This record gives sequence, structure tokens and C-alpha cells, in this order.
Amino acid sequence: MINRTLSIKPTTEGVTFDRDISEILAPLESLRDCTCCPRDCHADRGSAQLGYCRSGMGFSIGSICAHRGEEPVITGKHGICNIFFTHCNMQCVYCQNWQISHNRQVVVEHKMELSEVVSRIEAILDAGSRSVGFVSPSHFIPQVRVIMSALRARGRKPVYVFNTSSYDKKATIESFDGEFDVYLPDLKYMDDRLAEAHSDTPGYSAVACAAIKEMFRQKGSSIWLDDDGLITSGLIIRHLVMPGQVENSKAVLRWIAHELSPSVHVSLMAQYRPTPRVAKSQKLGRYITPQEYDEVLEEFHHLGFYRGWVQELDAPENYTPDFVFDHPFER
Ligand code: SF4
Repeated sequence: MINRTLSIKPTTEGVTFDRDISEILAPLESLRDCTCCPRDCHADRGSAQLGYCRSGMGFSIGSICAHRGEEPVITGKHGICNIFFTHCNMQCVYCQNWQISHNRQVVVEHKMELSEVVSRIEAILDAGSRSVGFVSPSHFIPQVRVIMSALRARGRKPVYVFNTSSYDKKATIESFDGEFDVYLPDLKYMDDRLAEAHSDTPGYSAVACAAIKEMFRQKGSSIWLDDDGLITSGLIIRHLVMPGQVENSKAVLRWIAHELSPSVHVSLMAQYRPTPRVAKSQKLGRYITPQEYDEVLEEFHHLGFYRGWVQELDAPENYTPDFVFDHPFER
């Protein structure tokens, strides 16, 4: 596997902030003793001794693009400006973003200055996007704070979306109260054996459920939309149905219905498709079947969910990104 750092066009001209830049960058200092996520590595990310996620103190980006593949209330006409960070604090063997997320095999990585990140985001906002989404940000929380602070210092007020696989500290989510407009967590597992086997995340269900409970405490069940039907505040919980794991999916839905509410907005996803890494796996090397999806849908309706989105079963091909391209989803 080639580790390739693509060159990027310098886009620093004209980016100035109405605050001292060292003040804006201050949150990065916490990465010298990193307890950013539940792994609590205490790594010095400013040194060569990196932690589990093998991420440093800078802005390591897979892509910044206007993404039109999210739920309709997020996508709208112009898409959401999504920031895809590289590496991850989970290591899902089936990850669709494997080119940027596998810690020891990152294929595409753009190391950007803050000014480059900001100017790319602003170009997308200027083209019509109203929201900024941080995708798999759990190991880059200080960088997320810096980017938000920089955009604020530039007078920008987009809708901020926290798009996470939910291996997050509850305390982190508590600290976001009033900062993030929209929470978009993926609740992947209630079965911790699966979480450990497929994502190397021990204790995932307790960690993720505590984080999502806190999101629910802040946002409740309702979502708020603007005049164009775009979300401005709220919580949407995603769940990806995986081959052979119907019981896990049902348990996830039961937890949401019983511990939160059946009036929560749920986005049920059928887009699982085997990546090259699991293509030959007996368990993960296939799509989900119509029977499996029907069984999960039956539970979804049985539990009384009535708000949200249910993906069509023919979705897989439409959602597979290729980060080698400038726009991973449109090529
Ligand atoms: S963010 Fe990375 S280095 Fe920090 S605690 Fe989590 S896995 Fe470890």
C-alpha cells in the first residue's frame, strides 16, 4: 500500500482573522498529552510517539467537499461542506472510507495549514452550502474547535454538524452544548463482541450510548428546519445494517426506542458494500439480503419509529467514495 500525500494548491491569500492566531490555535496544545477520545492514550501528538489513531497536531484531511449524499434535510440543493479527517479512533475493517481511515495504511492525506482549511470551507459556503460537517472527528476534537473558532473569527455562522461514529467521551459532547447545531451519530453496535471484532473498539456500546444520551439531552427528539427545509438544529441517529447482523441492528433500534424515544429521527442505512479488505470474508464479503433488511425494517416499524429516513436497498453503489479524486463522491 502506497502512502501518498497529494499536493494541494496553496489557498492562503487573503485569509485573516480578527483574533490572534495563537489564541485560535491554543486548543491544539492539549494534544501533547492526548486524552481526546475514550482510548486515553496520553500520547504526545507533537512528537513521533503517536497514539492509537496515529494522528498528529495538524490538520490531516482526506477531503473537504460539498457532499450531496447525506439525508435530504442536510444535503439540500448545494450539499453540506464536509471535512473528512484522516485516520480514526475506530478501525472498522469494512470502512467505506478505508483510503483515509486505516491508521497504518492511509492512502490519501492532505496536510493543510489552518488558512487552507478555512479558505476551502469558505469557497464551498460561498457556493451556497449552509452547513459545515465534521466527519469522524472523534480524534480531532481540538482541530474541530480551532476550525470553528477560525470561522467565527471570519464572521461565518454556518450550521455545524457533528458526524461521528460515536466512540466519543460523554464529557466531550457535554462541552459542545450550545456549540454544535446538529448531532449526526452512527450507533453501530449494541453487541460488544462485534464492536471488538470488526472495529477494534472495546466497550463501544456503553461509550456510544452515553455520548448519544447526552446529545439527546441537549437536542431532544425534534429537529428544526429553515424555510428551505434544511436542518438548523437537532439529532439524527444513523445505523448501518450489516450482513449477518440483524440481531445487532434490532438491539440498536430497541435501545433508541426504549432509552431515548421512538420519536427520535433515525436514518436506517442499507449501503453496506464489501471493501477490498473484506471482499473474501465469509461474514463481511457480501451485501445485506432483502430478507435481512426486511427483518430490521419490521422491527423499526414495530418499535413505533415514525420520523427519519430508510435507505433503499439498491443504495450501495451510490455511496462509495474514492478519495483519490478531488471530489470523492462526484467523479
Ligand atoms: S485521539 Fe488518538 S491519541 Fe488521542 S486518546 Fe484517542 S486514539 Fe489516543
